[in-house]
Amino acid sequence: MTEVLERKEARSTELGRISHWIGGQRVAGDSGRRGPVYNPALGVQTKEVDFASVEEIDRAVQAANEAFQTWREVSLSRRQELFFSIRQLFHDRREEIAAFLTEEHGKVTSDALGEVQRGLEVIEYACGIPTLLKGDFSEQASTGIDVYSIRQPLGVVAGITPFNFPAMVPMWMWAPAIACGNTFVLKPSEKDPSASVFTAELLKEAGLPDGVFNVVNGDKVAVDAILEHPDISAVSFVGSTPIAQYIYSTGTSKGKRVQALGGAKNHMLVLPDADLDMAADAAVSAAYGSAGERCMAISAVVTVGDIADDFIKAVQERLPKVKVGPGTDPENEMGPLITREHRDKVASYLDSGAEQGAEVVADGRETAPEGDGFFLGVSLLDKVTPEMDAYKDEIFGPVMSVVRVDTYDDAVKLVNENRYGNGVAIFTRDGGAARQFQFEVEVGMVGVNVPVPVPVAYYSFGGWKASLFGDSHIYGPEGINFYTRGKVVTSRWPDPSTSKVDLGFPQTR
Ligand code: NAD
Repeated sequence: MTEVLERKEARSTELGRISHWIGGQRVAGDSGRRGPVYNPALGVQTKEVDFASVEEIDRAVQAANEAFQTWREVSLSRRQELFFSIRQLFHDRREEIAAFLTEEHGKVTSDALGEVQRGLEVIEYACGIPTLLKGDFSEQASTGIDVYSIRQPLGVVAGITPFNFPAMVPMWMWAPAIACGNTFVLKPSEKDPSASVFTAELLKEAGLPDGVFNVVNGDKVAVDAILEHPDISAVSFVGSTPIAQYIYSTGTSKGKRVQALGGAKNHMLVLPDADLDMAADAAVSAAYGSAGERCMAISAVVTVGDIADDFIKAVQERLPKVKVGPGTDPENEMGPLITREHRDKVASYLDSGAEQGAEVVADGRETAPEGDGFFLGVSLLDKVTPEMDAYKDEIFGPVMSVVRVDTYDDAVKLVNENRYGNGVAIFTRDGGAARQFQFEVEVGMVGVNVPVPVPVAYYSFGGWKASLFGDSHIYGPEGINFYTRGKVVTSRWPDPSTSKVDLGFPQTR
């Protein structure tokens, strides 16, 4: 017993400590509150993260406010040059960023590198900031009067991010926000915060002035302090729907501009004429990639007509090929879930599904690797109906549910009646059906024979219904709008011919 205690004690003293980043340096938290960070593949706590107090949030906001006064004056060409350096540095150091993701989130290295790559695309978009901030000009709107528009930064803006994309989702926010001339306070997920502090170090190395980017770690105390702080002008949030709704209502009631992206239940329609192999490959990679912990993961496959049996068979054939294990092994395609509690909750949908009448075709508990890691193997439920918990809830794990319907209209009705509206995909060879679908489906991001239709960086990302609170999607053109406010100048100059100083103008025109 004593030996076990000693071992436990020794381990806790070895825990790495993740602190805040304020005003260009690491700042150890002084609230006395901390949270655990796990290596989910091992199932053990490896680090602890400081939880910020209200005062510590205020210190970060003050640093950002001070930096804003000079940052907003930095020329567009200098900002562009800096963003090119940032882009290069993040590209050069992408493997180090990915290593943090694999260590704390658990995703396999190839997936972690893919996450960094998608985030880099948003940084690349921000490199075009001189073009993105161009205004309009109307000469001679009235006689002798010109009218023009400019977009200016908001001031200090904050980002609150989820655990599932610890590098990319912050990039969706800080890159456009800072390029637009704002300064930034990031509150990352407390479950995998190291990538955010590393981001701060890289930004400093690239030459970003101190105070322009700050990281405060923590939980609800930190989030509430951000929502209450009078010097924060805008809040971007990505996470689950209940918290998105809370952030939106609280933030806007304090007069802030808020964009809050919530949870999802993404459907994939497989029409009877679909390319079956293409659909099965797509469903497997979109349902099990990143252990199903993607807001654009396919959770419900809706088979239309008599394709269901063939589709299930094609998916079943592919399941043994999805190798599950620690993300550091390049052989593995799927890593663990984020916590033990989450893994158990995800697995519980297999039991409730069976109790409520679904067929458990694959039970990931039977194929999960041995050991303490938070693993669940690939799981497949057939004959799921809309009344079942497995359909109603966002499972956020490697469970694919197949819902069988008779007609295309039944399938569209199902998707449109769902409370979420983040992503959706249709698999068909019929261009007319696909076009009709894109017209009538009530979802923000639609894939046609593309299972995970995440928009490229020069479009904007966002869902509908309970997947988005506010009216602004994230990154791309809507991101630039969100992080700036418009100003329109109407100007008239005295006629130079009336000047008392001889400017060499003719007296009459
Ligand atoms: P989460 O909502 O639990 O946490 C997100 C952030 O909110 C974290 O920083 C967390 O510290 C904070 N938070 C949690 N509880 C809070 C509370 N009670 N009060 C104030 N702040 C609180 O989400 P998560 O589990 O980290 O991430 C998974 C969720 O995010 C899923 O629902 C997923 O669909 C969603 N997500 C959505 C998108 C999108 O683009 N729509 C993208 C990624 C993830």
